[in-house]
Amino acid sequence: MRDSCRAFVNDVVTPFIRSSWQKEWDMAPGERLPPAILEGAEAIGVRTLGVPEAFGGFDLEPGSEVRSFALIAEEIARGDSGLADKLVQNWKVSILLREVAPQHLQQHWFPRLLADPQFLLAHCLTEPRGASDRWLPYNAPEAGMQTRAVRDGDDWVINGRKQYISNGYDAALYVVYANTDRSKGMLQGTSSFLVPRGTPGFTVAKCNETMGCRFMNNGELVFEDCRVPADHLLVKDLALKSAGQYFRAGKIIQAAKNLGVGVACFERTADFVQSHVQGGRILIKHQAVAVRLADMACRIEAVRALVERAAKAVDDGHPDSEILCNMAKVYASEEIMKVATHALELHGGHGAMLEFGVEKLFRDAAIFLHMDATVDISHMKIIKAMFPETAGKYAGPEA
Ligand SMILES: Cc1cc2nc3c(=O)[nH]c(=O)nc-3n(C[C@H](O)[C@H](O)[C@H](O)COP(=O)(O)OP(=O)(O)OC[C@H]3O[C@@H](n4cnc5c(N)ncnc54)[C@H](O)[C@@H]3O)c2cc1C
Repeated sequence: MRDSCRAFVNDVVTPFIRSSWQKEWDMAPGERLPPAILEGAEAIGVRTLGVPEAFGGFDLEPGSEVRSFALIAEEIARGDSGLADKLVQNWKVSILLREVAPQHLQQHWFPRLLADPQFLLAHCLTEPRGASDRWLPYNAPEAGMQTRAVRDGDDWVINGRKQYISNGYDAALYVVYANTDRSKGMLQGTSSFLVPRGTPGFTVAKCNETMGCRFMNNGELVFEDCRVPADHLLVKDLALKSAGQYFRAGKIIQAAKNLGVGVACFERTADFVQSHVQGGRILIKHQAVAVRLADMACRIEAVRALVERAAKAVDDGHPDSEILCNMAKVYASEEIMKVATHALELHGGHGAMLEFGVEKLFRDAAIFLHMDATVDISHMKIIKAMFPETAGKYAGPEA
């Protein structure tokens, strides 16, 4: 798997990214990444990971699934983290559907996902009012979803907005979380629904212009009396609780993508300092440059070690997996940001030039600080899991 991904990245993704750097800024978001790239991902079998064999996909080795996802995510993100993001949403939502969707929905949607190389999935939690309450999570009515779903005859009627959704602009199918019981805490009053693109009342309002990961089109979604058939309900009331398994694998995949960006920073910088000359010698022969490069390598290996340990804990269902997956996610985001900063510094003026591509890695690295929970929220989650009786208690609303 690693070899196939590396060959795909080296032969297809990297040449496209290097030769078409302006495409990132193409104002027609749908035209940024050519369809051939997703077709290439399809050809090596990584577009639809997570779809069970029974529905035409293939199962990763049981017991090491999360480690396999991590390895593949790292390799693809080494080529482009936006592309990795596009694929990862498909994997994460497929895992979720495999775990929680009724058979008739799996039978209906998995074949459609498999049949079309451009078919993308999206997972919609975040709302304009914020996402941190969901990640912590604060299990209180006042922290609940503002998007609301009400049962009306044979339908559910959804009203609300979702923002900052990965694949939000392009996806064909969305998992949407909505409040279905205002009297309960978020963990007991949130349901999830499958909403196909084109459902009346559901609008993709815009593509968010992000600083990094720009080959994944992040979107803003509006639901106005959007009716979905009652059988499109995924999980009633306990949707956030049952998504926990998905969240843990998701944090590992996030950290692994981040690692891939760090590896790309290191490879580009190692090449540069062994070819660019100052003071009559290649840069790497200047000791301060060598020390900085060594620091990049140390941080990357430390991130890799933690990601592997946390991925194994999630695969094994270890009690520490909640703590470790959040540690891996937040540690990767802060360390790879430092790696990317070294890469910029060692490239000198070249590092600031768009056509050189190092500033792109820096922008991509910055995005990880805020995806799947901010740095501070991730740290709080670690401490809440370590000290549930004290830090784990909700402080309550403003008096
Ligand atoms: C590129 C990208 C892709 C994304 N993809 C998706 C997606 O696919 N699906 C999805 O649902 N969401 C997605 N998100 C949203 C992402 O999960 C949120 O942006 C992130 O969790 C932070 O939430 P927020 O932006 O609402 O900030 P807020 O929750 O409003 O936080 C603002 C600030 O307040 C701090 N803060 C908040 N609460 C507390 C507290 N209790 N104690 C201390 N500090 C606090 C935060 O740390 C932060 O610094 C994406 C975001 C980005 C940038």
